Amino acid sequence: MALLEIKNLVKNYGDVEALKGINLSIEKGEVVVILGPSGCGKSTFLRCLNGLEEIKSGQILLQNAGELGKDIPWVKARQRIGMVFQSYELFAHLSVIDNILLGPLKVQKRDRAEAEKQADELLKRVGLYDRKNAYPRELSGGQKQRIAIVRSLCMNPEIILFDEVTAALDPEMVREVLDVILGLAKDGMTMLIVTHEMAFARDVADHVVFMDGGTIVEEGTPTEVFENTHNERTKAFLSRFSQNS
Ligand code: ADP
Repeated sequence: MALLEIKNLVKNYGDVEALKGINLSIEKGEVVVILGPSGCGKSTFLRCLNGLEEIKSGQILLQNAGELGKDIPWVKARQRIGMVFQSYELFAHLSVIDNILLGPLKVQKRDRAEAEKQADELLKRVGLYDRKNAYPRELSGGQKQRIAIVRSLCMNPEIILFDEVTAALDPEMVREVLDVILGLAKDGMTMLIVTHEMAFARDVADHVVFMDGGTIVEEGTPTEVFENTHNERTKAFLSRFSQNS
């Protein structure tokens, strides 16, 4: 079985069918990138995988855990499936280190010294150890996003979901965040990434998924999807990006 297996996932918002039966398998160590036009369901899909949206039908299976939300409750599942959001979601009243340690101490009940040692190492790795005691308001957007990634990593998740994490950043800060994610990919972290950064998507992905209208309309290796595109909607979407770059 794959690390994460999604079977026929359907999600409705009232009368709007946001996801119309998504099937996807993610192997351990694999990086899957999801592309698609605004409103096609990318964010909804990631949110369903983290239990932030209630699904109408289908199954989300995690290796050695079973069906999420059924065999394993969402509070437990979220420790194994991390998520990083476009808007960072850091607590303004907590310092960087207290933001990072909140989950490890309160949810995982870990020893502070042990968790802080890991946090320090992760902060060094993203080049922000010197901002350990700063507050979110004292950080740039790129720094806040790198802290949000460290906070997720410090829970030792088996997979991390990234939801357009550079979309709110000034252009000069996008690179520093993408480089952290590329480093994680090199280290074998399993990731599911929604992004509009096409060059990055090509670089980082093992598998590319193109969504439109709540369904997966094309998928394959980066070469297959970017160079041997079959679907007309994928072609139209990708050509908009090549015109802009
Ligand atoms: P994407 O991330 O690809 O831009 P979303 O997942 O945000 O797309 O949205 C998919 C569809 O679901 C869209 O039609 C959107 O309008 C709708 N939608 C998303 N969130 C909600 C919500 N909270 N309530 C109602 N409709 C929603």
